[in-house]
Amino acid sequence: MAQQRMLKFVNTAKETPEKREATLRKQDFDEIYRQYATQKAEEQASRCSQCGVPYCQSHCPLHNNIPDWLRLTAEGRLQEAYEISQATNTFPEICGRICPQDRLCEGNCVIEQSGHGTVTIGSVEKYITDTAWAEGWVKPAAPLAERSESVGIIGAGPGGLAAADRLRRAGVQVTVYDRYDRAGGLLTYGIPGFKLEKDVVMKRIDQLEQGGVKFVLNVTVGVDMSFDEIRAKHTAVIIATGVYKTRDIEGANAKGILRAIDYLTVSNRLSFGDSVPEFDSGEMNAAGKRVVVIGGGDTAMDCVRTAIRQGATSVKCLYRRDRANMPGSQREVQNAEEEGVEFVWLAAPKGFHGDPVTGVTVQRMRLGAPDATGRQSPEIIEGGDYIEEADLVIKALGFEPEELPKLWGTDGLEVTRWGTVKADFKTHQTSLPGVYAVGDIVRGASLVVWAIRDGREAADAMINGFMNLAVAAE
Ligand code: FAD
Ligand code: SF4
Ligand code: SF4
Repeated sequence: MAQQRMLKFVNTAKETPEKREATLRKQDFDEIYRQYATQKAEEQASRCSQCGVPYCQSHCPLHNNIPDWLRLTAEGRLQEAYEISQATNTFPEICGRICPQDRLCEGNCVIEQSGHGTVTIGSVEKYITDTAWAEGWVKPAAPLAERSESVGIIGAGPGGLAAADRLRRAGVQVTVYDRYDRAGGLLTYGIPGFKLEKDVVMKRIDQLEQGGVKFVLNVTVGVDMSFDEIRAKHTAVIIATGVYKTRDIEGANAKGILRAIDYLTVSNRLSFGDSVPEFDSGEMNAAGKRVVVIGGGDTAMDCVRTAIRQGATSVKCLYRRDRANMPGSQREVQNAEEEGVEFVWLAAPKGFHGDPVTGVTVQRMRLGAPDATGRQSPEIIEGGDYIEEADLVIKALGFEPEELPKLWGTDGLEVTRWGTVKADFKTHQTSLPGVYAVGDIVRGASLVVWAIRDGREAADAMINGFMNLAVAAE
């Protein structure tokens, strides 16, 4: 009976939730996809062929039990689908919205591989958990017993919050420290509302608070409070500070040349209704300007689409490789193009004009021989330079870790030659006893879903450690 509801991929075409018209969606910062109707979610879930060896699951960093929650959704057993989905993922509605599914679960779905179009796993995951919120099935932590151990978590991004949730559910006392005035890390101040609306994130943070997680905000560790102070207050500490040092371009210092993270943070603050002087002064507002964004990753895609929504007269994205070789998601490039962004492939900045900026000298590139990693290296085409006029230039070339041992005066904290914190692959323990590290500060700029996985694993390793200590003490 159950199987009869499934395997519908032959007769049922892949359908993603409706996307709002580009002309409408570029006028606001609301999410661009609408929710599935119940019937559509059930129908799309029923396309799954219930593989014995589900490649979707093995390519999901959280190893979500995808076939089971698809089957339960197809059968209309949504609460059970939610229970299974939340067992492996702390924030399924967030991953359903912003995971690059084409590179993870959906890209490896056998139905996609056989040319029928993937099962729309991310959209169904989002549907299940949005419904769970609406029905009141998502509950705050209510531990059976309180534990005496306490954990201090530095950084309230997805890595820190996933660990906080899991530790708190086990009864551990949890305090999360963050330098910003709101928790959420890049979910709050990096990723724009058109990909992830702010109330989706805030709802989670409220619930963590209701479950007993304490947040200490507006505190920069290493400035307002020392790392040693935090260590002294808690049984164990998790470093979940992400990566924020912007890769720079020589000579890109004139007025009107901005760092992507500053530009996006200001725009996200506006979505919360904050008053932001840098926006009001026009410094970080693209309205009426010719905007050039440099970079080809997710951050660049978020900047170009933010500039469109702010009312830029033109938005161009310069990337030194071609479309097929860009790191950003193809889905986001398509969304950006629909909204009016122009991509200039095989183009790199050579210099900048004016202060305030008036233009960028652009070098034309071609793809040369593959490098050691097999990726074709961009080479300059001599004599191909031209000037691209611009009133606002945004640098979106990626992020690197800050030098934590130096900033925090922790000599014993080992880092890699790239500056990321060294941590055990499974337990996430660092070189300092009782100190763990998760997310981008360990992996380098990565994905939300990997930060969630790290946070959950570190929490589990700590809980096991606390239990073993308790047993030994008995
Ligand atoms: P973060 O989310 O960076 O959180 C770190 C927190 O630590 C921050 O709140 C910061 O304020 C705090 N902190 C840092 N230093 C200190 C200190 N000294 N004291 C106190 N607090 C401190 N990933 C996806 O999967 N999908 C996407 O669509 C996507 N889009 C992105 C768009 C942009 C613009 C950016 C920049 C990244 C995007 N990513 C995306 C990547 C994703 O956001 C990160 O991989 C993820 O947020 C990392 O989580 P984290 O918990 O390690 O760190
Ligand atoms: Fe796919 Fe991400 Fe959900 Fe895993 S967490 S099933 S990769 S959308
Ligand atoms: Fe279903 Fe595709 Fe996963 Fe197979 S790979 S179980 S068809 S979602």
